[in-house]
Amino acid sequence: MATDYDSPRKTDDDLNEDSLQELQARRSDKSSGSIDIDETDLAESLELPGADLSNEELSLRVIPRQADEFTCSRCFLVHHRSQLASEKNGQQICRECAA
Ligand SMILES: [Zn+2]
Repeated sequence: MATDYDSPRKTDDDLNEDSLQELQARRSDKSSGSIDIDETDLAESLELPGADLSNEELSLRVIPRQADEFTCSRCFLVHHRSQLASEKNGQQICRECAA
């Protein structure tokens, strides 16, 4: 009975070794497989900070001035055009500063 157990174990070990060698050979040949995994990991890691940066850029772009807003040359605050009191030499002054 012992030989019956030993013989399949040897064959299993041989198969495992062969499979490992084949896998190693395949990994070396198909190194792109591991590279693809790394790229996906990097892409996933870059997506979150990239999205955050895009949001920050959008917020920065929106906050300074919109199409219907202007920046007061005195208080440097962004006001709606309805708050524009005077504009001289390209300097726009809000009603609060002009008052
Ligand atoms: Zn002002």
